[in-house]
Amino acid sequence: MMVQMSAGALTVDTEKGLLAGARYVASPNHDERPQGCTLDLILVHGISLPPGEYGGSWIDRLFTNTLPSDAHPYFARIAELKVSSHVLIRRDGELVQYVPFHRRAWHAGASSYGGRERCNDFSIGIELEGCDDQGYEPFQYRRLVDVIAALCAAYPSLSPDRIAGHSDVAPGRKTDPGPAFDWARLHAMLRATRVRFA
Ligand SMILES: [Zn+2]
Repeated sequence: MMVQMSAGALTVDTEKGLLAGARYVASPNHDERPQGCTLDLILVHGISLPPGEYGGSWIDRLFTNTLPSDAHPYFARIAELKVSSHVLIRRDGELVQYVPFHRRAWHAGASSYGGRERCNDFSIGIELEGCDDQGYEPFQYRRLVDVIAALCAAYPSLSPDRIAGHSDVAPGRKTDPGPAFDWARLHAMLRATRVRFA
């Protein structure tokens, strides 16, 4: 049985796989999820472009394969990557969606969760605009909880018990969302919001 979320006021259109209220920027970087694969993991990431700088359109550009490699030395290293996430939560709380949730976005890379490889197959990727060592904004936590609540309501196979960081599924290779991300705060907020636990 579906439980209506009391907080958040965000909803997912499961036909389209889109979050109502998010700015949609269509990324070409997605494909089919494997047959019979259960969508049951939410992966939290951190990103800023260039690293340590906020604002601007560089993340949109990266996820749409239009990042100019000559605009910043760092961009030359990443401009050829074909990557995406489902959602980005910017510093001001703005929500941007790049890939419909039922499609496989390309955010985790080589990864493993609970003994299963290729986390992109069965996860939703949420990027927070930020850096590993700089605290995330309070409103970003609020929006993250709202997004998680909406996702768990729309896709019953998802659960607030199965949320991990990129660094958890790709240790040694990835460090985001970093030590600045407050997991205890997230889980306390999820409990306070009464997001359905499996
Ligand atoms: Zn990441």
